Amino acid sequence: MIRIVLLGPPGAGKGTQAARIAEKFGIPAISTGEIFRSNMAEGTELGLRAKAYIEKGELVPDTVTNPMVAARLGAPDTANGFLLDGYPRSVGQAKVLGQALAKMGIALDAVLEITADEETVVARMKKRAELEKRPDDTEDVIRHRLVVYRETTEPLATYYADNDLLLQVNGDGTVDEVWERIQTALQDLQA
Ligand code: AMP
Repeated sequence: MIRIVLLGPPGAGKGTQAARIAEKFGIPAISTGEIFRSNMAEGTELGLRAKAYIEKGELVPDTVTNPMVAARLGAPDTANGFLLDGYPRSVGQAKVLGQALAKMGIALDAVLEITADEETVVARMKKRAELEKRPDDTEDVIRHRLVVYRETTEPLATYYADNDLLLQVNGDGTVDEVWERIQTALQDLQA
């Protein structure tokens, strides 16, 4: 049983490491960005509401995002825990998440922050843009997403450190190197 939040700038490799963590612990990796993108691809109402924000690199409003996550956390596959990738993204969302979990009688076990410097993540995202063709991986939008991260999401590290939940790993290097660091950081949480 492990309930974990993955934190880190866009391009830090969260998605790749999230898949490994989810497999190791047998829990679903829940990516709010992925949920939005698949809804946009299917043309659902949720997708339509999120689209303009995502294309500009802005956060989708809490009135859309918070209920979506609450509904997802109520699904049966989270019975053994979950990993959240890309949520919460602000102290406001973190407080809403904390309240939602408290109502369910549960709490987070850890918040894992993957740190990476700005030039590293910009270079990685430009490479990813060629492969994945995401609508928000153009240079201007990438830079804007990093500003949003620094101003709105980064303060979460302090928020969770104050709650004694924060674990940090250096996101430089290969996927396997970062994965080794993550496994060491999560060692004490293993079921
Ligand atoms: P990601 O795949 O995590 O990089 O997310 C892609 C985009 O989806 C972000 O730039 C936001 O526009 C939107 N998004 C993802 N997660 C959230 C969230 N927790 N709150 C608001 N917007 C989000």
